[in-house]
Amino acid sequence: LSAKRHLMTPGPTPVPPEVLAAMALPVVHHRSPDFKPVYARCLERLKDVFRTENDVLLYTGSGTGGLESVVANLCSPGDRIVVVSAGYFGERWAAIAETYGCAVEHIRYEWGEDPSPDDLASRLAEIGGAGAVLVTQSETSTGVVTDVRALAAAAKAAGALVGIDAISSLGAVPCETDEWQLDAVVSGSQKALMTPPGLSMVSVSSAAWEAQARASLPRFYFDWERTRAAQEALDAAFTPAVSIVVGLDVALGLILERGLEAAFEHHVRLGRACRAGVKAMGLELFSPDEDSSAVVTTVRVPEPVDGAQFLLDLRDRLGITLAPGQGPLKGKVFRIGHIGYFDVFDITTALAGIELSLAEAGAEIERGVAVTRALETYERTPA
Ligand SMILES: *Cc1c(COP(=O)(O)O)cnc(C)c1O
Repeated sequence: LSAKRHLMTPGPTPVPPEVLAAMALPVVHHRSPDFKPVYARCLERLKDVFRTENDVLLYTGSGTGGLESVVANLCSPGDRIVVVSAGYFGERWAAIAETYGCAVEHIRYEWGEDPSPDDLASRLAEIGGAGAVLVTQSETSTGVVTDVRALAAAAKAAGALVGIDAISSLGAVPCETDEWQLDAVVSGSQKALMTPPGLSMVSVSSAAWEAQARASLPRFYFDWERTRAAQEALDAAFTPAVSIVVGLDVALGLILERGLEAAFEHHVRLGRACRAGVKAMGLELFSPDEDSSAVVTTVRVPEPVDGAQFLLDLRDRLGITLAPGQGPLKGKVFRIGHIGYFDVFDITTALAGIELSLAEAGAEIERGVAVTRALETYERTPA
């Protein structure tokens, strides 16, 4: 067993040492001056990362909690909700809305397809409008990052509110909350925001606040108004995971200091390097070979390799953790995450391990080129 662990999944992701160090300090009380300035700064920084002037609500809970809050706060029983899905996380939006008793109109694509704004516009016209449209920006199960701006425009034109799952994409690819008129955007701490799992954030537009006041689904912990009022007084409604908030504050500081545009460019270059390396060793991409695919690279498992066994070998023998295929892609693909605290040498480490393990498992792999190709691609593509 290799002692050093290389965490290369699309969540959780590696955490910078500055963030870990801040989180190792003694626990502070959430209603004391030890915490309030950190809380205030973290909430402000979140607005900058979400690119919004509106409130960003911070919850202790995983990303899915934030998704659930969107449904519970925007909808009433029987409301017509359109879910656009093309993978595992799109299915989750639908499952939440169905659980809460919404009338879900599901626009469901094959896993790996990229949803079309025209399809959304025509479905909305067909059904005579909907209360809300729920979309996944980065479908982490396939590697497709969809055109949220165009989908949101189609929804807005039909008078619907727009909820976005940006859990794996916020901070990695552009998500212009205000400019694109996104009513509720959800993210989580453990992806591009370079912080351990445990926090979820939700931005709420003024239209979404109006809808919230009318919506009658039951909610308590995730009631937006309760959290908004508490945040305004810097007096959290419930005990937050204080140490993770301390870490998130440091991580957001690092992201904003370098600049969001620089972060987006870095992710594009990592995606290019990863795809170049994968193709150089003769593997077939499942995710699109496009710059938009900057969050996770999904690769088909080659013959005659057993996909599950391959990931175990990588993890237990070489110390590299990649993510398996989910749902219908189980055993057929594997996924390399490159969001947050990653550099090109993380990519080459993953590629070198993949090459070794697949070759030993009997796949026809071109040896000794992937790492070089990845490094060259990274170096040659400044924005
Ligand atoms: C990781 C992820 C989630 C799930 O978040 P949890 O924190 O595990 O609840 C939801 N949607 C997308 C797109 C994700 O990548």
